Amino acid sequence: MMAVVFTESPANLAPISPLDMLVVAPHPDDAELGMGGTIAKMISRGWRVGVLDLTTGEPTPHGSETLRRTETNVASDALKLTWRGNAGLPNRSLQHTLEARELVASYFRILKPKWVFAPYWQDAHPDHVAATDLIEAARFWAKLSRTDMPGEPFHPDRVFYYYCIHLRLAVQPSWIVDISDHWDAKLASIRAYESQFITGRDSQPPTMLDRLHDEASNWGRLIGRRYGEPFATKEPLALDSLESIL
Ligand SMILES: [Zn+2]
Repeated sequence: MMAVVFTESPANLAPISPLDMLVVAPHPDDAELGMGGTIAKMISRGWRVGVLDLTTGEPTPHGSETLRRTETNVASDALKLTWRGNAGLPNRSLQHTLEARELVASYFRILKPKWVFAPYWQDAHPDHVAATDLIEAARFWAKLSRTDMPGEPFHPDRVFYYYCIHLRLAVQPSWIVDISDHWDAKLASIRAYESQFITGRDSQPPTMLDRLHDEASNWGRLIGRRYGEPFATKEPLALDSLESIL
């Protein structure tokens, strides 16, 4: 089973080949909720995909640090993740401090992700808003030279945004990925967080999982596919060819 890497310093991480994508999540389960299908899809295509959880996500009503860690390992296996780590920043009081920025930038310098995925910039959860600010700043900070950050200066080519928002927004995404063949993997990765989505939740339909299914189905409907996942970008999206458009 995959084990989440907890370290006080990214400089201590075991050497790793550069990642194609790094999904940065405020809490363990946000990456799965927002883009578990796309993660599973890109891994099935041979991409190297990692998830960096910024905090443990605890305390929660039915979770504990130990339980959440086990659940995260199960979810990582369901997606067949290349790498997963936890930055150990404070849950519920996540802030974009200079220290936190250097820490996240250090992860970028060591993991060298071509693309970084951050939570969508509008959210009701202060940890999520702080995470987005922090990730954008860390992307810039990672390329600085003459610093005491570990690794070499590095600048992720792109930062894109996934939706794991606590606002009931009618969002207009920049694009939607067809995840029809990877819905089962996404669902398995979400079910892994039993303490968050099953224990103590209303078991009468529509359950939380029913809602997630309906949402994925609606994004799929908009692109003429079974299931979909939405994404946003602030910078223009570059296409090699119009053939990439479904
Ligand atoms: Zn969250």
